[in-house]
Amino acid sequence: VRKNSVWTQDNIIKSPFKSVEIPNCTLYDYVWQNLDRWPERTLAVCATTGRGYTYEQGFKLSNTFAANLRKKFKIRDGDVVAVMLPNIPDFPLVTMGIMEAGGTVTTINPIYTAHEVQRQLLLSEAKLVITLPETVKIIREALAIAKLNVPIIVVNTNGESIPEGTVLFNELSEDLHVDKSCLKEVRRGPNDICFLPYSSGTTGLPKGVELSMRNLIVNCEQVNDPLIRCHSETTATHQDRALVVLPLFHIFAATVLMFHKMSLGIKLVTLTKFQPDTFFEAMEKYKTNLLFVAPPLMLLMGSHPASTERSLQYLEVLVNGAAPLASSDVDRLFERAKRKIDFRQGYGLTETSPTVTLTPVGYTKNFSGTGPPIPNTDLRIVDSNFNNLGPNETGEILIRGPQVMRGYRNNPQATSEVFTSDGWFRSGDLGIVDEDGILVVADRLKELIKVKGFQVPPAELEAVLREHPSVEDAAVIGVPHSVNGESPKAFAVLKKGCQSPAEELCAFVNERVAPYKRIQHIVFLDSIPKSQSGKILRRVLKEQYS
Ligand code: AMP
Repeated sequence: VRKNSVWTQDNIIKSPFKSVEIPNCTLYDYVWQNLDRWPERTLAVCATTGRGYTYEQGFKLSNTFAANLRKKFKIRDGDVVAVMLPNIPDFPLVTMGIMEAGGTVTTINPIYTAHEVQRQLLLSEAKLVITLPETVKIIREALAIAKLNVPIIVVNTNGESIPEGTVLFNELSEDLHVDKSCLKEVRRGPNDICFLPYSSGTTGLPKGVELSMRNLIVNCEQVNDPLIRCHSETTATHQDRALVVLPLFHIFAATVLMFHKMSLGIKLVTLTKFQPDTFFEAMEKYKTNLLFVAPPLMLLMGSHPASTERSLQYLEVLVNGAAPLASSDVDRLFERAKRKIDFRQGYGLTETSPTVTLTPVGYTKNFSGTGPPIPNTDLRIVDSNFNNLGPNETGEILIRGPQVMRGYRNNPQATSEVFTSDGWFRSGDLGIVDEDGILVVADRLKELIKVKGFQVPPAELEAVLREHPSVEDAAVIGVPHSVNGESPKAFAVLKKGCQSPAEELCAFVNERVAPYKRIQHIVFLDSIPKSQSGKILRRVLKEQYS
């Protein structure tokens, strides 16, 4: 097999791009690095209301908020603060404020149920929660279940009164009297953990992914090479506009849209609730030229009536990630736009900050390809004995690079399971790399299910099912779904003498989980197929039932 220079003698795949230097600074200094160059430029604006902030306003409000977090809420270095917000222009201000105060941000999906929220609040040991007035009820329920007492700050986006007992974000960020000298006490450096998103990883329940400032900064720098970058330079006359439709609580949007794009002075147009019409209107109204999506959105853009030459006219760079994509979806989109758009695809994980591979500018060879490793990143494709495989052979994708997490919070066991003895991170994905170093993600080895690009950890649904008094044992697998990529399918073994109907069990689960995790039916079995060590044999279920 012919091998290009990206493949070493030992079958390690190197990045074809020039290595980058890792800036030795904090994430908030990195993000605000160019503030003096564009203070008047819009940082973020809400696509539906037009409410927003300039970079200068954003910085000042976030800085005042940081001082108040230390003064009034006694946030200290390393304390975890939970952010449960949809995409609103205040999201970056809240996040950067927490980090400037020395805190670590853990993000919670704003559509989570109290059951899901309480688990993350307990695990992350959050000292404070920041949310919208309408989600205060869920958080209070979660705090009651977890027997916690944590203060709540609310971001009020429409000027209505806020729930009793909560504190208004605006009061903390617009406070003219706060003494900011307390921020001088913050002793946080590039190697400190500042972001703690939750991911189930290869197996089990969601775990806190410890990402340092350095992890996130380097991942921004790694995609700045002119050959792979997905933006243009901000100048006196030009500012890119990115539509923020992917949720900012997930690593893809958090790093790629928030941290990276803020460091570049790009305008973020935030969509709070996804509705196809508003989505297409926003692209046209705000002339957004950058768009980052997951496969269900690609599908929509190739089929929705509002996806037209006109609504897509400003789109220049379109980047897909988070789940596998059919290349025909890209062709369909080009037909809608009546022209070719710079379509790009990346591969990554929460555990890798997230970007690992990215197709270069103008890449059109294979829209299913996710590109070669980005700078400073090495890959290996290995068999089940960790022997390196060569070009066009399928095996597990192993990753090495400065963007790889330190580990799972308070979980050395899970951490050791995802690292090889020589320090490579095991993705749990199956991939194939060609002679040119282009990775195609072939399948998932790990048990994780992805619905519309969102994580649905089977262990989570199984645990909820097992909480039902009639259920002896349970298993959940992912089955292919034409729109959402996958959907969860559940199996249950009932206790002797119990006769709960499937609808009752589904309702029991569905009350406790976010809508995209819901199950539609349950297959009753006499026993769940398991290995000798007691692990669910999901492959067996998949072969028989998908
Ligand atoms: P998350 O941690 O939620 O970002 O999920 C990471 C997982 O998403 C990876 O391990 C892959 O299974 C999947 N994934 C991410 N990007 C891609 C892609 N471009 N193609 C296929 N699967 C992907």
